[in-house]
Amino acid sequence: MNKTDINTAIALLEQKQKIAIVPHRNPDGDAMGSTLGLYAFLKKSGHEVTVVSPNEFPDFLAWLPDSDKVVIFEREIEKAKEILQKSELIFTLDFNAFHRMGDLMGNFLSELKVPFLMIDHHEKPDDYATYMFSDIKYGSTCEMVYHFISKLGKIDWIDKQIATCLYTGIVTDSGSFKYPSTTSTTHRVVADLIDKGVENTKIHHLLFDSNSYNRLKLLGRALENMVVFPELKTAYIRLSQSDLDEFHFERGDTEGVVNYPLTIKGIDFSVIFIENSAEEIVKMSFRSQGDFDVNMFARNYFNGGGHKNASGGRSTKGLTETIEEFLQVIKRDNPAKM
Ligand code: 5GP
Ligand code: MN
Repeated sequence: MNKTDINTAIALLEQKQKIAIVPHRNPDGDAMGSTLGLYAFLKKSGHEVTVVSPNEFPDFLAWLPDSDKVVIFEREIEKAKEILQKSELIFTLDFNAFHRMGDLMGNFLSELKVPFLMIDHHEKPDDYATYMFSDIKYGSTCEMVYHFISKLGKIDWIDKQIATCLYTGIVTDSGSFKYPSTTSTTHRVVADLIDKGVENTKIHHLLFDSNSYNRLKLLGRALENMVVFPELKTAYIRLSQSDLDEFHFERGDTEGVVNYPLTIKGIDFSVIFIENSAEEIVKMSFRSQGDFDVNMFARNYFNGGGHKNASGGRSTKGLTETIEEFLQVIKRDNPAKM
């Protein structure tokens, strides 16, 4: 079978079957939007479908249609394993390597003998999928799911529910249509989704105007903690576990904070370090604008990856030591060197 030929996917979906759809761990708007959009489409096509997320999704996405039906692997492990074991097909959306599900779920899935269908827009996909729609030129997996449905010849099946989910991921992954991966095609897709009933203003409101008091105060702390190196065109923010505790951190509260330093004139590279005591790691997010490649930066130094202008990584060395390491690295690798 040809891994990239849509006929491979059509053949796999020919029979009604048990299908699982999986986003990456710590799913974001694109991961949840794409899995729930595809879920609604495949259900409509008569399949028996379940979304299994490695861990919890943030509250600001809990209004997505059918998000209450998502099975959380790390919370309901036996149930999730049974669903995955019985699945005849598994879609993996918005990631391209098993480790992005975390060890617990990633190791479990790597043992399963089941066809995988990957739809994803990250660099350097691993080679596990029977069918792969992998292309870094797309700004979001949600946009790719729209094209996937179109390639199946089922564009007319996209209803308000599916459109709402797909719109959400396109908005969140494109920075509300401003990142360079936003194309005229993206806007045509969005226009069609609005024609199918998407309440766009309401979705923006649900996504971006639902702050808690504590979340905004945490943002204030993050901005206070920001350190800027104008000569390196670089800035970073640190958030310790005690910062998070002080403002009663909830999942999703730090989403987007890393983008703020990029709004400073002359800053093209921004990093946030977030301490996670429970997992004994420091989670890093990297963002750039222009040519500085943060996918390579994350891969080379911090065990991560992602896209050219948005990537993530992690360290087990502790907050202070991780930042010290970063300060060494940026002396030789920064946007001012380009
Ligand atoms: P975020 O900073 O929002 O967690 O992630 C930014 C982008 O980088 C997302 O597209 C995400 O999928 C990717 N990413 C985040 N963390 C990692 C990581 O540890 N490894 C890889 N390969 N990609 C990551
Ligand atoms: Mn994405």
